Amino acid sequence: MDLIKELEGCRTIVITGHIRPDGDCIGSVMGMYLYLRKVLKDATIVPMIEKPAPEFNCISDIDKICSDFEPGIEQFDAFIGLDSSTNDRYGDALKFYESAKKRIIIDHHVSNDGFGDICVIDGEASSTCELLLGFMDEDLLDEEIAKAIYIGIIHDTGVLRFSNVKPATLMACAKLISYGFDYPRIIDETYYEKTRIQNEMLGRALVESIMFMDGKCIVSKIDQETMDFYGAEPHDLEGIVNQLKNTKGVEVAIFMYELAPLNYKVSLRSGGNVDVSKIAKFYNGGGHVRAAGFSMNGTFHDIVNNLSDSIAMQLNK
Ligand code: AMP
Ligand code: MN
Ligand code: MN
Repeated sequence: MDLIKELEGCRTIVITGHIRPDGDCIGSVMGMYLYLRKVLKDATIVPMIEKPAPEFNCISDIDKICSDFEPGIEQFDAFIGLDSSTNDRYGDALKFYESAKKRIIIDHHVSNDGFGDICVIDGEASSTCELLLGFMDEDLLDEEIAKAIYIGIIHDTGVLRFSNVKPATLMACAKLISYGFDYPRIIDETYYEKTRIQNEMLGRALVESIMFMDGKCIVSKIDQETMDFYGAEPHDLEGIVNQLKNTKGVEVAIFMYELAPLNYKVSLRSGGNVDVSKIAKFYNGGGHVRAAGFSMNGTFHDIVNNLSDSIAMQLNK
């Protein structure tokens, strides 16, 4: 896809991603925004997602994000949807998807069926950010754009540790760090560093986790009462599922937290023998073979019962 050609003549462009944006979503929206702003000087370009967690304040011009979803424009010439496998995950930006004259979808979720006028979906790419880099003219890249994109790759690969890292991913990172930003600091600040509250939630989730299926599965949850008690927000629970998955012998880790009474956001991680994107898709969610998620109504026990059947079916194959 020739991104700039596709945007030719577009005066208003909105760039968005998924609800409860993660590092790849924030990095790709901001990387795209900083890049297009440089190339399409006469266009009005609006980055639009929920307010990013404070650790992402190192990204240049992050305060330009329109987090109230009220840009003062009703219909955009172009809508760019990043890192979201379905349009219902655009949250309050969905109305701009619906009214836009042209929709460009760029994503790396295998579960993405393609729902735009132009769709670039590559399930092999580590992250949406890695895909984005492929559309950018090297001469126009700069330190701030490189930093935003690097953050996305780092977050979706667990700091270049997961199996979605390919030679191309490392080559992309090699190119990005050559722009000179302080990458060890950025990895620490945006990925590893935890607030006291975040560590408390992680501790609770680990201590209260339950192993089942002969230690092949682990599950833990945080309910609303606990979140309220600690003053935790959803973004404070980022990374807990990965830590559960690190338990020796575990093939599938499940972490859930209560979004509303008896409505859970469920995160799944797998060692590769179970395709959790299939399970998530069955429950109207999505994701990748080794990392997927969905939301579901029910009690903790209902959800675990449902999931154990789906996991057992795959494990016993
Ligand atoms: P998470 O468990 O939220 O870190 O998400 C793991 C992966 O699954 C990410 O790539 C998400 O974009 C995707 N994912 C999580 N929740 C959903 C959902 N409700 N619908 C579609 N994809 C999801
Ligand atoms: Mn994401
Ligand atoms: Mn992603």
